[in-house]
Parts: sequence; structure tokens; C-alpha cells
Amino acid sequence: MPAAPRLADLIITNANVKTMDTALHHAEAVAVRDGRIIAVGAAIEIAKLQGPKTRRIDAQGHTLVPGFIDTHMHPRPAIDEMSPYGVLELSAEGGIKNKADFFAKIKAKAQRLPRGALLLGAGYGDDILGGHPTLTELDAAASGHPVIIFHSSGHRLVANSAAFAKAGVTGLTPDPVGGQFEKGAGGVFTGAVLETAMSPFARLTGRPPSPGTVPEAIVTEGYRQEFRTFLSYGLTGVADAGITPAKAELYRQLLRGGLPVTVYAMLLSDHLDWLIANHAKPDWAVPGLTLRTVKTYAGNSLSGHTAWLYEPYADDSHYFGLEPKLKAPDLLAIVQRAQAAGLQVAAHANGDREIDQVLDALAKVGAETPQADTRHRIEHASITNPAIIARAKALKVCFAPHSYILNHGAKLEAFGAQRFDWIEPNRHAIDAGICIGGNSDHPVSPPRVMERIQSLVTRRAMSNGKVYGQSQRLTPDEALYAFTMGSAYLQFEEKVRGSITVGKRADFVILADDPARVAPDKIADIAVLETIIGGKTMFEIVKGKSRFAW
Ligand SMILES: [Zn+2]
Repeated sequence: MPAAPRLADLIITNANVKTMDTALHHAEAVAVRDGRIIAVGAAIEIAKLQGPKTRRIDAQGHTLVPGFIDTHMHPRPAIDEMSPYGVLELSAEGGIKNKADFFAKIKAKAQRLPRGALLLGAGYGDDILGGHPTLTELDAAASGHPVIIFHSSGHRLVANSAAFAKAGVTGLTPDPVGGQFEKGAGGVFTGAVLETAMSPFARLTGRPPSPGTVPEAIVTEGYRQEFRTFLSYGLTGVADAGITPAKAELYRQLLRGGLPVTVYAMLLSDHLDWLIANHAKPDWAVPGLTLRTVKTYAGNSLSGHTAWLYEPYADDSHYFGLEPKLKAPDLLAIVQRAQAAGLQVAAHANGDREIDQVLDALAKVGAETPQADTRHRIEHASITNPAIIARAKALKVCFAPHSYILNHGAKLEAFGAQRFDWIEPNRHAIDAGICIGGNSDHPVSPPRVMERIQSLVTRRAMSNGKVYGQSQRLTPDEALYAFTMGSAYLQFEEKVRGSITVGKRADFVILADDPARVAPDKIADIAVLETIIGGKTMFEIVKGKSRFAW
């Protein structure tokens, strides 16, 4: 007599199942037991695994995909902007349309703060306000508080008199090298503080908030809020691209407290010794936290106009960007040590010249001490050329390209139209068989996965409606693959997650629509209805309201 089939704990049926598994693309239903997928197929077959205790989700024809993984981002505590520890969001996304909104928000917060408490804001755009706010205006809006407001670029801020006093900056303080306390007529401060001159102000802010500068309970709750937001976007795993041992400890505490989202932690190269000493230690092992990657900054910024290039910038024919601070011999030493310890290297590089420096180091180390499956990664890999694609392919290097054209496409103008088809080169990478992983680089672009997928599919900038690099657009299914199997592969997890395949973790997202069946410019509007991790519903929309199980 054949053994009775093992019954399911959970059945999800009546779904448009997009498996991301090349062996079986589509199905109607899945069955789960003990947190793993035990069957995928036709509804009528899966129904046979239904027992008296089986939980059943009727997906009502909606789309079921594997849980999303954002393989490069920077989680930070989400703290209520009006709380004493919160940072006022003064960008357009924070509801600021003009100068009146800007000052109204600052006044409202000043009234809620204890007298003398620091008032911190960020994200203002001089384009929206019609100029930079001044010290005098800030004094009028929030007298009694030191006020520090960061510009959206992060390269300048504006402060009031109480903040200048608290920072110890007086009329006699000289400008530091590479910075300026801007002065107007009669040598009085305008309030603008540029580049390196920001450091005495930044010290006051303890920004970003971290253990030590903000009470621990508020930081922990801030991270809980942050990860709840991730759950509501369908994220079941994230990679933190650059952490310290202290932040690794914080993740350990969060995971021990039941955080259902996994964290793939990339230790900053300053902490390579610590990583080598601890990555394989059993007492550091917490389910859900992976330590195997060193993050190194081997390049500069795309949006900051500093990425190092072979050919000059389109908007300045004498300017090639800046040579990275990390020199080739130091980069090589990091890669050598990481390779010897069996670690993965994740190298930040944007400009073609920066990327080649990383590939030089990887090629040298690969020849000296070959290893079978290193999956070293280039983070962003923004500006490429045919030679880079060929080298990356030969070296089996993976890319974690930006998906930010939707939000920041206009910034690509600085590189010129002839380069657009080589920026965020997803099509070239896929055609060459280079592994790519989906990511937001949050907070650089929002970690809303549907919005990121729209960006990969359309490459259309929101601000001007222009498509940047049409040839590099992905199909919706390719973009979904990047945020599931692609990321899983970059994290050495493709055998345990990333597709809806028997034996894998039961991580799913239920989407209101199939990204392949809506207009490409509407993909970002697709609602995430439910996020399931290990067979448990961690987020769902019930009667229009978000409900979290963590
Ligand atoms: Zn980053």
C-alpha cells in the first residue's frame, strides 16, 4: 500500500504563480509544510494535500511570486520625524512644495521640542524653495533651538545662530580645507555650511542615529518600523551594504527578537580583521544573519558627479571625475586577504575607470590563488563599456546595478547620450551571462520593489519622462528574477530561496497584479497584498489596512 501523502500546513491556491524556476514557469497553487515548499502545480493536484488542519489562502487570481530580496541597501531606524530624535523630512516627498511649507514644518516641530533641544532636518531642495534658506530665517522660525538642516545633496547644510554657537564656530573660525562657512555682506554668516566645514555641525547631530547618540529603545523601535516597511514591500531578505561590528550586533538582537527578514551583512573593509576573526564563529551564528562579505569603497559617486572616468564628463570636457581615495595597492591587499579567508568581496565602483581597477585586483588575485566560486561583486557597476562586460564575464564577477533611473535619471545627463546604453547595463550583463541582483541602494532610491522593477523595465525618469538607455530595458519577468533568484545567487542562497521550487523556503509575495500584464509605467502602482515568510503571513492588507505579525 503506498504511503499516504504528507499533508500541508498551508496551501495557497487560485493564484497566478510565477515561480522564477526555469524548470516550471507557471502554476496555480503551492503547498507548504514546516516552512518549506512541498508541492507546486495545478490546483486540483495541490488540493489533495489539504488536511483538516491545513491553512488555506485563496489568492483570488492574484499573482504569487517568491519573496523579494534587496541585495544592496542601507537600513536605518525610521523614527517619527516629529519626535525629539526624529529628523524632519523637508523634501518634496516629505510634503514640501514651497518656502511656506518648509518654515511651517520647522515651526511646528520647534513648538513640540523641549526648549534648547536640537532641531534637525534633511532633504531640502533649493530648487523647490527658490533658493537656500538663511540663518536669519531659521532664527525667526525656531528661536530657542539650535537648527541644522541638510541639503538634499548631503554636501551642504544651513544652520541658525544657536547651532553656530553650539558648534563653536565664530566669526574668527577659519574655513577648513575643502569647506566653507559662507559669509555675506559685512562678513556675517549666511547660515550655509559647505562640504568639510559641516563636520562640527554633523558631530552635534549624531546622524545617522545609532546606538549611543539616541536612546537604545528608540533606535530598536526605529529599526522595527523600518523592517515593517520592508515587509510591506514584499521584502523577505535584505543585504546591508556596509556595516560595523556594532551594527552586526544590533541585527543579532533584532533577529533574536523575531525579525523575520534575513540580513546579509557586508562588513566595511575597515573591519576586515573583525570579519575574518568572527565570520565563521559558531557563537556569532544567528539564523537569518550572514557574515561572509567585505564591502570596500573602490570608487566615487554617480549622482555626486565624482565617478572616475576614461572619457570626460559630457558637461565638462576637462573633467574626468576624481581618482578614488582607495589606491590600487590597498584595494589589492583587501581582495587578497578576503580571498585567502574565503570571503566575498563587494566593491563599490561606479565609473568605468574605477570598475577596471576592481577587475584588475580580482584578476590578479584570481590568478594568484584561484578559487572555484567566489561570486565577487561590483556594487553599482554604473558606467561600463564592452571591455568591462567581457572582463566581468571572464572573471565570473557579479553586478549589483542601481535601479534608480525612475527617480534620478536626469542625473545621467552629465555622462552624455553616447554612454546611456552602457549605464546600469542590465541587458548587456544578462546577455553575457553575468549574474545581477536587484537592489534599491535605499535611501538612494526607495526600497519599494515594484517601483524598482518599473525602473528596470522602463528606464524612464519621473522628472522629465525621458528614457535613458532604451536597449538596456528588462522584461518584467527578468526584473522579477533579479529581485528573487538574482539576489539569492549573489548571496549564495539560490539553493534555499529565490524561486518557488519544492524544498525551498516558503517565502512568497502576493501581488495585486502581474507586472507582465500591466502597462510598464503602472508597475510601481501594483499593491503588495501579503508577504509570507517560512509559511507564515508576516504582512497583509486586511480591509484596506496593513497588518503585521511582527
Ligand atoms: Zn550603497
